[in-house]
Amino acid sequence: MDATVKKFMDLVETKNPSEKAFHQAVKEVAETILPFLDENPKYKAVKVFERMIEPERVIIFRIPWIDDKGEVQINRGYRIEMNSAIGPYKGGMRFHPTVDLGVLKFLAFEQVFKNSLTSLPLGGGKGGSDFDPKGKSDEEVMRFCQSLMTELYRHIGPDTDVPAGDIGVGGREIGFMYGQYKRIRNEFTGVFTGKGLEYGGSLIRPEATGYGTVYFAQEMLATINEEIKGKSVAISGSGNVAQFATEKIIELGGKVVTLSDSSGYIYDKDGIDSEKLAYVQNLKNIKRGRIREYADEFGAKYVEGVSRPWMEKCEIALPCATENELNEEEAKALVKNGCICVSEGANMPSTPEAVEVFLENKILYGPGKAANAGGVATSGLEMSQNALRMAWTREEVDQRLHNIMINIHNTCMKFGKEGDYVNYVKGANIGGFVKVADAMIAQGYV
Ligand code: NDP
Repeated sequence: MDATVKKFMDLVETKNPSEKAFHQAVKEVAETILPFLDENPKYKAVKVFERMIEPERVIIFRIPWIDDKGEVQINRGYRIEMNSAIGPYKGGMRFHPTVDLGVLKFLAFEQVFKNSLTSLPLGGGKGGSDFDPKGKSDEEVMRFCQSLMTELYRHIGPDTDVPAGDIGVGGREIGFMYGQYKRIRNEFTGVFTGKGLEYGGSLIRPEATGYGTVYFAQEMLATINEEIKGKSVAISGSGNVAQFATEKIIELGGKVVTLSDSSGYIYDKDGIDSEKLAYVQNLKNIKRGRIREYADEFGAKYVEGVSRPWMEKCEIALPCATENELNEEEAKALVKNGCICVSEGANMPSTPEAVEVFLENKILYGPGKAANAGGVATSGLEMSQNALRMAWTREEVDQRLHNIMINIHNTCMKFGKEGDYVNYVKGANIGGFVKVADAMIAQGYV
């Protein structure tokens, strides 16, 4: 490790012990930002980057609720208000047993750069709970969401902090949280994004992260005169992002061969078509079943206990499940098997060693903070529609999303070009940093 980065990271690790995911996210950014600061001393002099790794505010709270057996359950709730230099805090809520302070600080930190890249006025935040919605009844999920919001409502608002969904938080959970917010505050405002269409949601918001990840892959491929049509695509996950990435790949003529969940992955050599995707959507969103059932239904291969499909042959890989789900060995296998493009639907799914393999082999590699920014960008469009009290058409929102992804790609090209190769990690980090840093300098030491 470079000595300057090491010195910086020693401080970060001492100050934030046992927050491993946060250390990983900061180090990845520090590796490109610290050299950039040396070339641009105006940022260094006022310690902008040091300020950016410190959340503006962290809220931690108790969430008591009663399960269906009448027993009291207690979870922990969080909201990390990371940076509001360019707009209200914005970022999703995650419900998963692995949620802790370090995970949410990593996600909030990434969100600051991502939101800046969208070019919309969005600050960065993230929140969630160690609550596991899996296996819970709708009534239990509702009671939990209402208890969470009974505390969180005082910290958020349409001009302050606007949460959305993430792992374990979809339309059902957002509906319950929004309902309780509205009830306590007695106001119908755009305090959440990812809302249902009947109460202020935007068309294309559910699709946006998956579609955007594919649009970003399309832009990267175009730089080497390649396209998605005819290519085999491995996707991990089978939730919101994975489903809509699959839908867009099918529409563009690619062949999706894998999907997964935390129990295992399926490989379908014939490809997942629209009919099979409809089956997955019903299985995951309505029945809340396991991906294994896909293999039983369509006679595909199922690998139990391995939720990472990266040893399978593909030309494009879209990790859409969770952080650190693609390691060095898997990255080497992908490259060896002919993968030319990795576009991350999930946040930080590739380990630092895997990223190194992609960069060394000069394959097209779009990091999550750029490639999956379409979700939050469309959340920004939902906020604009709510403020205008208008609803744009599906085509209009999709067109805006597509243009935003093209612009993010252009920003990455501008800051990440290294000879013939585009280092999208560098491009996204510097491209995201500059706007926030300039705003922070203009606003003084706040
Ligand atoms: P969902 O909850 O809808 O789906 C998550 C999927 O990933 C499920 O298939 C789940 O399997 C699997 N998964 C989750 N955790 C693990 C794990 N530890 N190991 C293996 N598989 C796992 O979430 P989303 O689709 O919304 O989010 C997926 C990723 O995309 C996350 O990294 C999220 O931060 C990122 N993202 C999401 C955005 C959005 O708009 N929703 C925006 C930008 C990024 P199982 O059901 O078995 O748990």
